[in-house]
Formats: sequence, structure tokens, C-alpha cells
Amino acid sequence: MAIEWPYGDANIAEADAVEAVMRDVMAKHAGTMMGKPIQRPGANQIRFLFVKGVTRKAGVPVVASVRATTELERFVHDSNVEFVLKVSWPLWSELTDEQRESVMFHEWCHCELLDDEPGTLPHDVHEFSAVIEAYGLWDRAQEEMGLAMQPHLPGIEGAEQDADDVDPGLAAAIGDIKDLVDEEGISVTFARRGREATIKGAQAEEQAAGA
Ligand SMILES: [Zn+2]
Repeated sequence: MAIEWPYGDANIAEADAVEAVMRDVMAKHAGTMMGKPIQRPGANQIRFLFVKGVTRKAGVPVVASVRATTELERFVHDSNVEFVLKVSWPLWSELTDEQRESVMFHEWCHCELLDDEPGTLPHDVHEFSAVIEAYGLWDRAQEEMGLAMQPHLPGIEGAEQDADDVDPGLAAAIGDIKDLVDEEGISVTFARRGREATIKGAQAEEQAAGA
């Protein structure tokens, strides 16, 4: 059950609690914006608001949304607020602390200052699971998303520690090597930072099993 709206008759309220989470997120991730050289706003350039209800986009409840203000709005209101970030109170109140951080990082990723003019960026990937299922990761953005997801998927041993090590070029190279060892029936061992990993070809695996 959602916690009751604590702001009386108003439908919109200042969301200081949201701003506090965003400030933590900004401090944590300022240096790790997926390597993209994008100028992001600071918390003081964003207005954080709670809305009483649950808004929906294409029928799906939206926890938070962010939009850039226009030059006209900033002029009329004599304001330097570059972005307005709205958060649905009922949905927010049901999130864990970690989910709240994820939502704030997500919204921050939307925000861009291009030559000091605010704008919003689209998501990296727009795709249906059914298409991925049928055609795999068929463009570069999807491959990058796949690599970002990989350490968080269950059943991949040791993946968590290696999350920061993987880059798309390396992953592609590993795929090529796997094909090669499969064809040649050999195994290849890699050593890096004192750790070892062996890629065994299908035939090498059979031989090991038979030995
Ligand atoms: Zn989004």
C-alpha cells in the first residue's frame, strides 16, 4: 500500500527527499557516465517535484519524468531552473532506497546541457524482448546494453567481479576465439591480473571428458 499523500490539498509539492537522493547519485556516478562526454546539470539546476497521482505513458505507470525548461519559461519566471523532474508520490513511496537511486540515475542520464541549453536524451535501447529473442543483439547499442546486463544475470560465475573489465571489443574478440577453438578442437588459457580463464573448444571438452 502506498503511503498517504502528506501535502494536503495541493497536487504538487517540493520533493526535497528526491533531491537528496539525486545529490547522492550525482556524487557517486559523476565520473562514470558510461564514458560519454555529455555535460550534465547539477542538482541546483533541477526542480524536484512530487505529484499526487500516478501518470501513465502508453498505459504504463511512470515513476519519474524529466523535461527541459524553455528559454521563454526561464525568462518569464526569471529562473535558472533548466530541468523539471516530476516524481509520482505513490509510486516513489513504494520503492526501495536502491530503486530510488536507479530512478534518479535514469533521469539524470536523460539530462543534457548542450552549449548550456538544456535538452533530454532518449534511452540507449528501444527494443522488444521478442525481437532480441528472435534476432539477438542486432545493433551496437544493444550489444553494449547486453554487456551491461551480463554481470547482473543469474548463473554467470565470476561475472560480478569482471563487470568493469569487459569492453565491447574484448567481448567480440572472445566470441571469435570461442569460434576458433570450437573449430580447431583446442583450448586457450588467458591470464590477467593474476587470474586465469580457459576457453575450451567443443572437441577439447569431449577429450577432457573422455580422459
Ligand atoms: Zn527514461
